[in-house]
Amino acid sequence: MSTQVERIVIAGAGQAGATVAFGLRKAGFDGSITVIGDEAHLPYERPQLSKEMLNLEKGEHRPIRSQEDYEAQSIQLELGARLTRVDADGRQVLLDDGRKVGYDRLVIATGVKPRQLSGPFDHTGRACYLRTVEDARRLREDIRSGRPLAIIGGGVIGLEVAAAARAAGCHVTVIEAGERLMSRSVDEIASAYLDRAHRRDGVDIRYGASAVELGEDGQLKLSDGSVVPAQSLLVGIGVTPNIQGFEHLGITDTAGVLVDGHGRSPIGSIYATGDIASQPHGQGHGRIETWANAQDHALNLVKNLLGEDVPYQSPIWFWSDQGKINLQVVGNANQGKRFIRGDEHGDAFVVFRLDDERRVTGCTTINSPRDMAVARRWVKQGVRVDPQRLVDPVTPLRDCAI
Ligand code: ADP
Repeated sequence: MSTQVERIVIAGAGQAGATVAFGLRKAGFDGSITVIGDEAHLPYERPQLSKEMLNLEKGEHRPIRSQEDYEAQSIQLELGARLTRVDADGRQVLLDDGRKVGYDRLVIATGVKPRQLSGPFDHTGRACYLRTVEDARRLREDIRSGRPLAIIGGGVIGLEVAAAARAAGCHVTVIEAGERLMSRSVDEIASAYLDRAHRRDGVDIRYGASAVELGEDGQLKLSDGSVVPAQSLLVGIGVTPNIQGFEHLGITDTAGVLVDGHGRSPIGSIYATGDIASQPHGQGHGRIETWANAQDHALNLVKNLLGEDVPYQSPIWFWSDQGKINLQVVGNANQGKRFIRGDEHGDAFVVFRLDDERRVTGCTTINSPRDMAVARRWVKQGVRVDPQRLVDPVTPLRDCAI
């Protein structure tokens, strides 16, 4: 394979795609860069869709960089264009308008889309998903209307939206199929706190239930036989990868596009980054759907695209703002021995996870963002701590490391 890289095509104009493009220029790459995205907007970060954009006073979204920035950096943006197929042998991508764009390196950064609720439960067409600026605008108007909102899924999206809708005075019901909130990403103690905090704020939470039918009258029937008001309805039950156009290449798994620790797919000229990358993770491969991964994995990939050989090593880190609640997680929140700093029945505490050697492997902060700065460093560096000091909130955190 030729090592001459003059044309880099980035499929996907989201946070990871834009970060690769600007990162390449910053690193001195002077070949052509083309970013292809099916949305009409300049690339933007998605956390704002379920936070700032749902604030009735604040409103609109912000792009990552302006149009002028793309022009100044000679980054070719193909917006409103959908990649339909990759010709890996001919090293070109095909677009839905019939165009072909050649590449020396292809970076797949197409991200994920909301998982659809299966079954004919919605005959009204009112169910909304949240992934794009348009989705957020529509949801904001639903919230502004003040109509009762039912939310299917008690994950990050569901809870951030629940808090925004309560702030606007809507009646809110969260319907969670499992037994606790945010079970994919936090442990039981954090879930119990979220349950308490959202109920206190007036959110009705139903566990072990799923949606059966949304009636014209705005009543949503649940699998447990109950009925909840759902004049507005949001579904937030996770995501699936955007792998259309790549499936025939044999480089995808159920999570996304398979990559090694350097972001390379099994085809040498093709890389993947951001949510779509199914990367080495725990014992196997998996997606990491966080803002920090879209940023850091993309920046690391830039180095590898330009001939360095740098493995990606960064613990998972994410945050969620749910009204006044700030929750953050670093590392693995669900594994290891648990040590709690502060009152787990109160409104601010920290849950640490330690391995057998007392190294910090995970941490969840509830309304304690400052402690997260320390925890992130500890998890990244595998710092060992004294558990007794750790659970004593009077001992400063920095004095807990051994
Ligand atoms: P998102 O990013 O969309 O919030 P998460 O994976 O964080 O995704 O959370 C999705 C939540 O939806 C999980 O708690 C999961 O148990 C729940 N869920 C999945 N399917 C259903 C369903 N059919 N009805 C209700 N809840 C569901």
